[in-house]
Amino acid sequence: MPHAVSFLRAARLARSAKPFLARGGFKRERCAGCRLVPSHCMCAVRPSVATRAGVCLLMADIEPLKPTNTGWLVADVVADTFAFGWARTETDPALLALLNDPQWQPYVVFPGQYAAPERVVLAVPAPGPDGNGSAKRPLFILFDATWAEARKMFRRSPYLDRLPVLSLQPERITQYRLRNSGRDDHFCTSEVAAMCMSLAGEPVAEQTLEAYLAVFTQHYLRAKNQQPIAWDDAAHRRLREVSARLPA
Ligand SMILES: [Zn+2]
Repeated sequence: MPHAVSFLRAARLARSAKPFLARGGFKRERCAGCRLVPSHCMCAVRPSVATRAGVCLLMADIEPLKPTNTGWLVADVVADTFAFGWARTETDPALLALLNDPQWQPYVVFPGQYAAPERVVLAVPAPGPDGNGSAKRPLFILFDATWAEARKMFRRSPYLDRLPVLSLQPERITQYRLRNSGRDDHFCTSEVAAMCMSLAGEPVAEQTLEAYLAVFTQHYLRAKNQQPIAWDDAAHRRLREVSARLPA
């Protein structure tokens, strides 16, 4: 079933089909479910985790079209994933409605050093009894963008200014190999979502996102290098192991 990122991708593609095709973006046929070539499709192993926490992706203009985008993977795994295209001059009313929905406590996930200190939080309150503040479900707002774009989006989205900024304290370096920002403390969107799920007390979602990213990376690289999929490699075994813990 199409999810938030696939809808956004389809809409973005419709607006720019000609230039993107001209650049050779889609020479080979792609699976609509996973964006890979059919021989390397990974739809058969797509996991889905029921989570209390949600994710709201704010996507830079071209991001939904990039084959290496990992916001797509977040939308696969986390059922309550929302996605919006970001533009400086206009804001989707549906995004504002989501941020004002009382069931959610939104957090802007961004390095604390860029925010006023009083906005910065390092943790997410555990679920509390009804009637207290932590009864709200955490909604993690992630910038699905390059680092330069993300900084611009953070600065120029006044509707985010009233929200707490969740500053992650990564304990490891990025494992993502399909893009290279030149820094090992720049994490891809799926890795950031996994760290948020960990803070929200959702270890199954965290581990599923990590395992699924490794499987995607393998499929992507093997498609690019025209090698067959190794369905029993460490990445697939790990994903099966994690998926086995999910309620049937
Ligand atoms: Zn597929």
